[in-house]
Amino acid sequence: MSENKYDVAIIGGGLAGLASSILSARQGKKVILFEKNKYPFHRVCGEFISNESRQFLVSLGLNIDELRLPSINKLNISTSNGDSRAFQLGLGGFGISRYLLDHKLVEIARQSGVEVRENTAVTKLDFQDDLHEITTSDNKFSAKTAIGAFGKRSAIDKQMNRPFIKKPLPSKRNFIAVKYHVKANLPADTIELHIFKDGYCGISKVEGEDRYCMCYLTTASNLQEYGGDIKTMQEGVLYKNPILKDYMSSFPSLYDDPLVISQVNFGRKLPVENHVLMAGDSAGLITPLCGNGMSMALHSAALAFPIIVSFLKGNLNRPDLEQAYTTSWKRQFSMRLKVGRTL
Ligand SMILES: Cc1cc2nc3c(=O)[nH]c(=O)nc-3n(C[C@H](O)[C@H](O)[C@H](O)COP(=O)(O)OP(=O)(O)OC[C@H]3O[C@@H](n4cnc5c(N)ncnc54)[C@H](O)[C@@H]3O)c2cc1C
Repeated sequence: MSENKYDVAIIGGGLAGLASSILSARQGKKVILFEKNKYPFHRVCGEFISNESRQFLVSLGLNIDELRLPSINKLNISTSNGDSRAFQLGLGGFGISRYLLDHKLVEIARQSGVEVRENTAVTKLDFQDDLHEITTSDNKFSAKTAIGAFGKRSAIDKQMNRPFIKKPLPSKRNFIAVKYHVKANLPADTIELHIFKDGYCGISKVEGEDRYCMCYLTTASNLQEYGGDIKTMQEGVLYKNPILKDYMSSFPSLYDDPLVISQVNFGRKLPVENHVLMAGDSAGLITPLCGNGMSMALHSAALAFPIIVSFLKGNLNRPDLEQAYTTSWKRQFSMRLKVGRTL
């Protein structure tokens, strides 16, 4: 195989991309993963992982016990006037920052033989002569299979002309998300969800002493109403919930500015486009209230990998590869996403 030719090219090094890369490399495949950022880095995410994914992460090589992460098995929800109710979480989960989790997984990926190109944005994805052509700012690569794991929204979605990005979003369905790490002293076994007008804020413990992830989702129109200023919007909207007012005005942030993402869109996407198998949020984004987007990202990697291996062994042709992935992706996730969209 020529130097720049791979069995599997993965665009995006979040959970879906990293898990796909580890699984494929362990099968002896030549794998390249492109990530536009440099590890380790913070991301907007609530950082609560359902125990649904615990065993899978362990099988990837993550030593969860050694990390001494907080176990979370209770849920506390408050309404916008501050009335709250406590629930037991059936399956439960644990808290870990994406900074740490993705960093650990990229180490495992490298040890498994994945060629990790960080700080490398893919600018163009084409398909010609039965090969994917991947263009970055300074190089070109080709691969027999490609996994699109570039998250909720990427410049690549535009370049690929994906249908979900072409439709203008009505402002009530256009969301922003904001994340802080704060120093707090709340029960470590509880995830709290606090509701406010057109949004909700989650807070739960991650690794490290007194470190909590505080992350909220709201409409872009709420922010527009406050001239695009996060702090004023928080005071005008989130502070109406007395619990949030108390937390946000008293818990010190552990980094200078919050992380903010915009144009979060829960619209429908397709699991295969231009012969690229989409995994994680690139295939479909579930509302964070459901609390298992990370598990879905990991699960989609687990679905894609055996089908890709079968194709590379010559047991499936390309239309079968794409059909098999589409069918199993829809079987696993269509209903969850539909339920998520109604929340
Ligand atoms: C507010 C909010 C809170 C959430 N809270 C939770 C929670 O508590 N629990 C949970 O399970 N889920 C939660 N989720 C969902 C979860 O964060 C996602 O479902 C999960 O991160 C998806 O993983 P992914 O690998 O698909 O995408 P990501 O983790 O977003 O990774 C995509 C990667 O692709 C890279 N990339 C993009 N474009 C390019 C390019 N052109 N070239 C190279 N690299 C590129 C990006 O830099 C990024 O690293 C939350 C989501 C939101 C919005």
